[in-house]
Amino acid sequence: MGYSVRYDFHSHTHFSDGVLSPEQLVARAEEMEIDLLAISDHDSISGIEQAKAYIIANNLNLNLVNAIEISAQSDFGEIHIVGLNIDIKSSKLLSLIAEQQDKRWQRARAYELKFQKLNIQGVLSELETSCKQVVTRSHIARALVSLGWVKDNNQAFKKYIGKKGRVRIATDWIPMEQAILTIQYAGGLAILAHPTRYPMSVRRLGYLIEEFKIANGDAVELAYPSLTPDKRGWLEVQRKKNDLMASGGSDFHYPHLKWSDLGRFPMIEKNIPHVLDQIKDRLQS
Ligand code: AMP
Ligand code: MN
Ligand code: MN
Ligand code: MN
Repeated sequence: MGYSVRYDFHSHTHFSDGVLSPEQLVARAEEMEIDLLAISDHDSISGIEQAKAYIIANNLNLNLVNAIEISAQSDFGEIHIVGLNIDIKSSKLLSLIAEQQDKRWQRARAYELKFQKLNIQGVLSELETSCKQVVTRSHIARALVSLGWVKDNNQAFKKYIGKKGRVRIATDWIPMEQAILTIQYAGGLAILAHPTRYPMSVRRLGYLIEEFKIANGDAVELAYPSLTPDKRGWLEVQRKKNDLMASGGSDFHYPHLKWSDLGRFPMIEKNIPHVLDQIKDRLQS
């Protein structure tokens, strides 16, 4: 089958910080002629069943791969791990999700306290009405915009909640090892998401990829919109050295960002071991 199949193994719905409903996401995947889509919401699987029901009701050809993007703690800082082809009924996975969602609401309350000290009012109550399930910093950014405290999301991150902003809260996400184990216990593959987007030096990123492999991680994302060709070359060397597979995805959140639309990311060469090889049997229908 090769990689002529149009796939996207990283995308979000409004159950985390995407803006589309699962139905709208599926419709967009159809428009973009995607054959195989992973919905990988932050610490949530709630969009998946709804997307499946829509596919069946409309008799669509799109195949879904169950997925999630888990925030985790590594020795080098916070990372994101995509769990691909997971059993969404796994009780260990479900309790990890409940724990993470709870941590996220605790963090939202901690943000509220810090905002109040800066005389910024109303963020938490805005989140309580605007947020469907998982509360992310994207929701906080949108709340700051709609309450008029900043002009856009960019400014919200820059001024307040980004890595150099005034309001920073450390969250004790579950350890990387536990996230990997839980994904694998649920029958899935653990993929280190967008490695070059973490705020760390190249040297430390190299160590992180090694640690990820030592913790039995399966793959790294090697194709995503913001990855430049020279960084990709470097990443491929690390992937190979650590005997990891490759995956790819757009990390789709919003339809208006053309450069990160569904299915828009560079091809991965056929000679590179790909997570797709492991889940090919799902492509038969
Ligand atoms: P969280 O997991 O709640 O900390 O939120 C992280 C999410 O915020 C990421 O998945 C991105 O979608 C979004 N995000 C992070 N940094 C930025 C930024 N500088 N500008 C816009 N969105 C961002
Ligand atoms: Mn996000
Ligand atoms: Mn991410
Ligand atoms: Mn993502």
